[in-house]
Amino acid sequence: MTCFSLRQWLSVLEQNGCLRHVQKEVDLHYELAAIGKKVAGRYALQFNKIRNASIPVVTGIAGTRDLLAMAMGVRREQIVEHFAWAQANPMECVLVEARTAPVKEKISNDVDLQVLPIPVHHEKDGGPYITAGVLIAKDPCTGVRNISIHRLQVLGPNRLGILILPRHLSYFFRVAEAEGKPLEIAIAIGLDPLLLLASQALTPLGYDEFTIAGALYGRPLELVKCETVDLEVPAQAEIVLEGRLLPGVREIEGPFGEYPKYYGPASPKPVIELTAMTSRRDPIFQTIVPATKEHLLLGAIPREASLLQIVKNTVPNVLSVHLTPGGACRYHAIISIDKQNEGEAKNAIFAAFSSSQEIKHVVVVDKDVDIFNPEDVEWAIATRCQAGRDVFIVERALGNKLDPSSDNGLSDKMGIDATVPLDAEPGRFERIRIPGEEAIRLEDYLD
Ligand code: MN
Repeated sequence: MTCFSLRQWLSVLEQNGCLRHVQKEVDLHYELAAIGKKVAGRYALQFNKIRNASIPVVTGIAGTRDLLAMAMGVRREQIVEHFAWAQANPMECVLVEARTAPVKEKISNDVDLQVLPIPVHHEKDGGPYITAGVLIAKDPCTGVRNISIHRLQVLGPNRLGILILPRHLSYFFRVAEAEGKPLEIAIAIGLDPLLLLASQALTPLGYDEFTIAGALYGRPLELVKCETVDLEVPAQAEIVLEGRLLPGVREIEGPFGEYPKYYGPASPKPVIELTAMTSRRDPIFQTIVPATKEHLLLGAIPREASLLQIVKNTVPNVLSVHLTPGGACRYHAIISIDKQNEGEAKNAIFAAFSSSQEIKHVVVVDKDVDIFNPEDVEWAIATRCQAGRDVFIVERALGNKLDPSSDNGLSDKMGIDATVPLDAEPGRFERIRIPGEEAIRLEDYLD
């Protein structure tokens, strides 16, 4: 089931009973986020009546692995490998005329963000935040496109504060700013799950993440030229904001409730000045409630794809990997292995640490353990691990600054080998089972 726009995806969700409508009037201040959080992982939501706004809001459209599997047209267990395949087989985008691009139905050069229903999500957030805006920019040196999602705080009718972590966009901005020039950007809002996922790929500099969307779609992503900046944006988006990152300007942005379920602090950040807004005639606004499954999963799938490849390069007997929700889908990795040599589990742990600075605790389990089931993983740790022998700690490596227990990013790493020793006597670690249990259909027995 592939779809090429948010609208198509909403109708797919509707047909499958996965979309619920909220007709009651909802306040953008906390209330919308609270409802979104409560139903997270169960339904996508469309809020049709927003106080003081005329544009509806959707959230949770990519909130479970099952939904992402449906969007990709693969089974749930295949998501990660499918994403890795798409990243290895990118498809070039195609440029379409503005007259065939829905996002050009309305064009305004006088941007007023107040017309958009931008929610305040968490108690101590510094203000309303755009959380599902895919930002497009070009490398000032090479002209190659880059796509990324950033938290964007409304600072004025046409001004946004932005957090830019040290990756590709921060490099572009540094280059432009050193020459005293603004960096042109565009922000696309109201996108389907495959495009959102593609934006989160961990790719090298110079790789256009939009081409992953084409691979996932099985057809080129349609782009259209912007009005006021030299960029191209998805023609099927609901809303596009055009503007520029201002050189030499910083304003206070934050705090903001982030994915680890803590607040990222307020500090001076770069500022975007908006120069145009284009949209569909009757646009739908999209928000991702921070720290919900939707937020975590969109980051987790591309990370799992990279993690799996890197760990498999080192230990070919690795079968699958999982970044658990309890670990904010960043800090805790579970690795499933078909161990053939003693010591492979520890090597897999080293590879996982080296794959990403965010990974903090790694557990390796045998293939009979369900890595998506926290109870099963805990059972393996409880019954197949002796801490003195199977746990090791590396102190003060580089971790994630948003982890409040880190020392400004300096973080200890812990590996847990919860695999059965290869020389264990037969039967000692045999998991109990009841023959025929899998085939039992309870409805045949219960009245
Ligand atoms: Mn990039």
